[in-house]
Amino acid sequence: MNVILLGPPGAGKGTQAQMIVSAYGIPQISTGDMLREAVAAGTALGQRVKAVMESGALVTDDIIIALVKERIAQPDCTGGFLFDGFPRTIPQAEALVEAGIQIDHIIEIQVPDEEIVMRLSGRRVHVDSGRIYHITFNPPAVEGKDDETGEPLIQRDDDREETVRERLRVYRDQTEPLVEFYQSLADNSPGSMQYNAISGVGDTETIQQSITSILG
Ligand code: AMP
Repeated sequence: MNVILLGPPGAGKGTQAQMIVSAYGIPQISTGDMLREAVAAGTALGQRVKAVMESGALVTDDIIIALVKERIAQPDCTGGFLFDGFPRTIPQAEALVEAGIQIDHIIEIQVPDEEIVMRLSGRRVHVDSGRIYHITFNPPAVEGKDDETGEPLIQRDDDREETVRERLRVYRDQTEPLVEFYQSLADNSPGSMQYNAISGVGDTETIQQSITSILG
């Protein structure tokens, strides 16, 4: 089963992806995570994309398409995969079609802009462990400090409010056209591809149930 999670940054795609991975046994392919790993490791790819990512803009299509093609050729993808944060542009989606990669489900997670700004700009991270907090919804015991180590929490560069607003603008401009692209592909290929939109506002379990009822 090949699945795409579509939705703005901060919609909860990563959280829901983890649930899908454990429930359906398919790997999550998050281009954002792959790029962040490359930046952290200081690879040539990481050095090329670091500044673009920090600005909230998109990395070029050719870099992303090559990265994804290489990833889905790995043996763990033979039973299917879950794309999270890919495709982000029409050319990326067209590259999948041209490569003959069939998608069974596209699930769009819808969340209003103001909710996203609140979610992302309040997020704080403990870098070494990856533990994530939120200044309002999930605050640490001591402000600005990790609960387990007492080390300082940081705000990811791309979670700063002005960058979040830029990422949302980029989403509406470059990624939202994929809604129509996939709706019409699904309409023209009845039975083989399903498009569903769900609300990403509310508790994680309810959203999870909406997804499992679609995937079966
Ligand atoms: P994410 O964690 O998915 O929001 O991705 C973080 C950043 O990585 C984005 O703001 C982009 O700069 C870059 N990125 C991730 N996935 C893609 C993609 N499919 N196409 C272009 N840029 C991407």
